[in-house]
Amino acid sequence: MNTAWTFDPAAGRWQSRTVDPALRGALEGAGLHGDTAVFPPLWDHHGHLLWLGSLLEQTDLRGSASALEAVERLASAAAETAPGSWVRGFGWDQNLWGGEFPDRDLLDRRLPGVPVLANRVDGHAGWASTEALRRAGISEDVQDPQGGRFLRREGRLTGVLLDRAMEPVEEAARETGREVLERRFLSACSHLRSRGLCGATDMGLEPEHAEILSRLDRAGRLPIAVVGYLWARDGRLPSVDLPPGKMFRLAGRKFFTDGALGSRGAALFEDYSDAPGERGHLLWETGDLGEALRRTAADGMEAAVHAIGDRALDQVLAAAEAARMGPLLRVEHAQVAPARSVQRMARLGLRASLQPCHRLSDADWAPARLGSRSDDAYGLARFLRAGIPLHFGTDFPIEEPDPARTLLAALTHREGEALTWSEALWACRPPEGLGGSGPLPAAALPTGADPHDPSWLRGARFAALARDASP
Ligand SMILES: [Zn+2]
Repeated sequence: MNTAWTFDPAAGRWQSRTVDPALRGALEGAGLHGDTAVFPPLWDHHGHLLWLGSLLEQTDLRGSASALEAVERLASAAAETAPGSWVRGFGWDQNLWGGEFPDRDLLDRRLPGVPVLANRVDGHAGWASTEALRRAGISEDVQDPQGGRFLRREGRLTGVLLDRAMEPVEEAARETGREVLERRFLSACSHLRSRGLCGATDMGLEPEHAEILSRLDRAGRLPIAVVGYLWARDGRLPSVDLPPGKMFRLAGRKFFTDGALGSRGAALFEDYSDAPGERGHLLWETGDLGEALRRTAADGMEAAVHAIGDRALDQVLAAAEAARMGPLLRVEHAQVAPARSVQRMARLGLRASLQPCHRLSDADWAPARLGSRSDDAYGLARFLRAGIPLHFGTDFPIEEPDPARTLLAALTHREGEALTWSEALWACRPPEGLGGSGPLPAAALPTGADPHDPSWLRGARFAALARDASP
């Protein structure tokens, strides 16, 4: 260990310095050897803690090369679970096995009498053991539900459940209770800290979840700082009265105005380029959304509004104009944002919450969906040029909460949209008053790497350093 490169956001550059003993101890304690890059505190501004916490408890089946390999992974997890409890997995993909769906026989033979539910990589299919079907009350004469299917082979249930047919088994496997939720919040927060983050914004809490986070904070148990938004859906505007916390704060309400590009649910003005006749769908009437935003501001809360398509963004802008929320409103995603919408966002004083890593993940299919609108998609620098404050996140667990990937995506974007180190780090800064004293992230630089050239971020692993070991 020779040198630590520290980034000074005010000066906008890296500075090298010889490592002092306190910092050296912290870096080596975090498993970092060789030259190291040390960053200002980083925040993930859009994610879902409970969902991440529950996936962390499931067996990762992604990349299984056969159904038997998936079963073996589930069996090693089952060996660690208490007898009688559910074994959960996610991430199998029969396209990697020749295309044929699996059968419950494979699960039953290796894990007799064990309730197993393993979800497909896209979450639209489940693979259940016989005991799982029994606990869900599913028998051979079951009827397919509206919007779902129980797959059969020669008339017999295979245990593969499509879409809404998954629901009874999901319901039977669901663990509830405060201890479960606490455990999942804490494991998600620890995971984020292990990725080098000092805090995160949760985009979809129920009031009882906010109470749990507040209680964990008051007990001094939160390993990172958390800002939360309550999920406003089904016409309700939830709120909960909580004492101000040291590591947890409730900021406002989260609204959805459309779906996502991957499933063609994002609301566009023109048809999807690869699906004539389809333009996605809006989830609100503009007047109702404006009224909900106005009431949110009157309640002293902020609003975070999901808008992915250009038509959804336009609706949010119209509603924001009526509600006069200014910087109390942040647009989540803004994935298709033509110049005129960006200018209007700036005039209204709104903020933008963006996920640069989606550009990397969606690169294979997004251009076909959007056609010439791709020029307006996944923009970053266009918002900054208009004077719109940026917040970066990953939408974990849809993406890994990996700050290295967020920075890499922002720094290596196409000409006109790429950011500088200072701009990208500024978009990852903690919210005012929270997380500024949190851990510092550090990453090992490959030998001879130039910290100004972001390509070393590919595959870089960030670790959190205690703040008192900082340079
Ligand atoms: Zn989200």
